[in-house]
Amino acid sequence: MMKTIPKKIKIIRIIGGGPAGMMAALELSTTHEVHLYEKEKTLGRKFLVAGKGGFNLSNQATGKDLYDQYDPLHLFSVLLQQFDTQKTREFFEKLGIPTYIGSSGRVFPEIGIKPIAVLNALKNKLIAQGVQLYFEHEFVDFNTKKIYFQTPTETYTYPFDDCIFALGGASWSVTGSKGDWLEIFQKKGIHTTPFAPSNCGLHIQGFNPQLIAQFEGIPLKNIAIRCHNKTVKGEAVLTNYGLEGNAVYPIAAIARKQLETHKKTAVFLDFKPFNTHEELLQKISSQTRTKNYSYLFKLSKVQLGILKNFTDKKTYTTPTLFVEKLKKLEIPIVGLRPIDEAISTVGGISMDAINSDLSLKKIPNIYIAGEMFDWDTVTGGFLLQGCFATGHAVAQNILRKSIVS
Ligand SMILES: Cc1cc2nc3c(=O)[nH]c(=O)nc-3n(C[C@H](O)[C@H](O)[C@H](O)COP(=O)(O)OP(=O)(O)OC[C@H]3O[C@@H](n4cnc5c(N)ncnc54)[C@H](O)[C@@H]3O)c2cc1C
Repeated sequence: MMKTIPKKIKIIRIIGGGPAGMMAALELSTTHEVHLYEKEKTLGRKFLVAGKGGFNLSNQATGKDLYDQYDPLHLFSVLLQQFDTQKTREFFEKLGIPTYIGSSGRVFPEIGIKPIAVLNALKNKLIAQGVQLYFEHEFVDFNTKKIYFQTPTETYTYPFDDCIFALGGASWSVTGSKGDWLEIFQKKGIHTTPFAPSNCGLHIQGFNPQLIAQFEGIPLKNIAIRCHNKTVKGEAVLTNYGLEGNAVYPIAAIARKQLETHKKTAVFLDFKPFNTHEELLQKISSQTRTKNYSYLFKLSKVQLGILKNFTDKKTYTTPTLFVEKLKKLEIPIVGLRPIDEAISTVGGISMDAINSDLSLKKIPNIYIAGEMFDWDTVTGGFLLQGCFATGHAVAQNILRKSIVS
């Protein structure tokens, strides 16, 4: 077998201690001198937040089923071929974090493994591989050769051979991912796109406040939601402004695009996604003794409440109308929740500023990884999978350029 050795040991500086930055540091530090900078006091604060609710490290999807979840598809199908969901599971297994696939297809750490244990496993491995960690180091400027940091007391300038930015998106700013670095890149003439929320709740028009008071926080289970050309099955939760939940987040991006173009849009709820119109009408006609359709279809109180909110009395006495609304209840959407509440964001470094190896077109020894550039995917482990894949890809691209065989 051909042995590969680096032409020289490079100095690589990685800025941003989230999943993408940590992945890149782990891949590069067996061969090169790696320094990882984080402006907060600890690594992976958003990673820990992700751990509080669910903690989908990845998903079981492979091949086309996996690639289809990403936009832009052409870039991510290449990145994910190199580092797919199975590779993520193997990566964590080697770290001592076995995973399992839940019933929804999401990949979780084995039951009993706390999020902090996953983060500590990553951190311990970084230290074991000699990665030099710096905390409370906020990057404030850069050029083709040097990077400038501000700490609470000092400013520092460090030279680099290659540099990786993995600064995250612009939601949950309490975790450090504020997106306030955008201007630094703009000033260098690097094309950026404004941040916008993705995977977030929807503002609804026309909810009766009494209904909200009665049902706030109660899930609508086993429903489907459609916006424009996308339908998602799952769960939605009624909130005091509208809807949240795992069936809502994946359609937020489409709702945002519709709102940008048309100023208003709508979602369509299907309370019986596993039944056809015909089956439901059949059920009504076979049960001539009851005229109580909501009882017949075992609708929950919250389902019935929403149905009543957006229909009139005639719906309850007309079988075809009732079934029509049960399958396709139109709910007007007037906006998305604020960006800071979103699970992820789009925007950041524009796709047209980046080469296919994720280096900057203007400065090719600077690479970009994770949520800080303009790509999108849905919840369910695909976000972290995308961050790991981009972190892995930049590392491999740097290694490829620095190796003689
Ligand atoms: C509530 C919530 C739940 C989530 N759940 C899941 C889930 O279950 N599954 C999933 O796949 N995804 C989930 N996500 C999304 C996932 O956590 C993110 O997509 C992921 O953390 C992004 O990784 P990243 O490395 O790109 O950036 P980040 O994790 O945001 O890390 C970027 C780091 O860069 C640092 N930084 C920023 N600016 C500077 C600077 N100027 N100088 C130095 N450092 C800087 C930040 O402090 C931060 O630590 C969730 C997100 C949220 C908010």
